[in-house]
Amino acid sequence: MSGDSLSNRPSTDEFSDEQRKELLREVRCQTNLHWNYRHLKSLPSELLEEGQHVEQIYLKCNLLMSLPNNLGCLSRLAYCYLNGNDLRSLPDSIGEVASLQVLDVGNNKLTSLPLTLGRLPSLRSLVAVYNQITCFPKELCGLQSLSILMLSGNNLLHLPEAISGLIGLQGLYVDHNQLRELPRSIAALPILTRISCCCNPLTHLPAVPFISRPTIFFDNNPEMSYLPFSLLRQLRSGETWNPVVIQTCRCFQEKVVINNTVLISLSGPVKNDHPHSLVLPSQITTITSSEKGSPVLPSLRELCLRYIWNEKENSKDDIQRRKTRKQFFVLTSDFLPLSLCDILEVGPVAYCDTPSCKMPIFTFASIKVVTVTVTAMMHVKGSVVPAVMYFCCDTCAQQYSQNIHWMMDEFSVWLCGKLDTACSIELI
Ligand SMILES: [Zn+2]
Repeated sequence: MSGDSLSNRPSTDEFSDEQRKELLREVRCQTNLHWNYRHLKSLPSELLEEGQHVEQIYLKCNLLMSLPNNLGCLSRLAYCYLNGNDLRSLPDSIGEVASLQVLDVGNNKLTSLPLTLGRLPSLRSLVAVYNQITCFPKELCGLQSLSILMLSGNNLLHLPEAISGLIGLQGLYVDHNQLRELPRSIAALPILTRISCCCNPLTHLPAVPFISRPTIFFDNNPEMSYLPFSLLRQLRSGETWNPVVIQTCRCFQEKVVINNTVLISLSGPVKNDHPHSLVLPSQITTITSSEKGSPVLPSLRELCLRYIWNEKENSKDDIQRRKTRKQFFVLTSDFLPLSLCDILEVGPVAYCDTPSCKMPIFTFASIKVVTVTVTAMMHVKGSVVPAVMYFCCDTCAQQYSQNIHWMMDEFSVWLCGKLDTACSIELI
């Protein structure tokens, strides 16, 4: 520790004796240090030697290129603002500042976040906007106090499914990144109220229902060409169904629907020669949309996944049932092929859109594409957006389409008209 302290002592030319005396006086008699815009190139050693009582430190817009390795000695530090410095990395010792609640390292040159951040039990707000971060580590997904996560303006390629571990998360900001999809598990976050994911190459939004019905901002995702119907249902505003009001409609290109036909791309990157296809989640490997005639059946593999998932979910709800039935859930990774375990771990891509069914869908779906007029909050003119409905099988889709004609509630009447004019589907 003493060696660290010495090596971190700034070169004497940064601070004059007079400045040093003043800094020491501030450190000794204040709990909040306001050191924004001070041209600091390093943290004065006095802070670490005598600043154990400091609770807030404001270091915005200085010239810091690194932080000392013995940050852990700031044992009462709760608020740390480092926005607008020149930081290339954060020391692992930041994970020792156990009382840290707010950390702002926005507008630096970070390429990664230290895994030790995951040890901070009180961290409420993590701001790392406008850096060069390529990955949000799954090791940080156990931060149960984290309420605000701001990662806009980085180079994130994906977010981990483990993000559902951030159970206190209320606001997720990932605008201006390289995300092609959002993890489905964010739909399970219990108190998430806002997701902002504008300006990404997102091809679709999660098709599973969001528990907390957050407001989702997704302007300027030029590769997004449809909305999952389950989400549309949640995005409805007011008591009428048409037009549906959502937070944005600047993603959807009007050419997506040509002659009432949509092209579907099952997985992988969007092909340049088919820029207007609807890109379904990559886990879906088989789709069908048989309107009439003999329905296509899901594969045995798909049926197996659904069965195991339902058993698992039911056993969660009903402990008694679990006790009385045979120990079905000895089917762990020791008994199942790894490829199935991986799929089950992430969970279903969607649930059957027939309200009375809600069967989980993993790799096989019968789909319908309806067009819906959506209106953004700020714009009067609506735009026509394709919405993908997922059904567990053709039979379920056909029965729902037939039965809905007999239903008289407002939603059914509205949807009935949509189903009658559903787009035809062309697989590419
Ligand atoms: Zn179904």
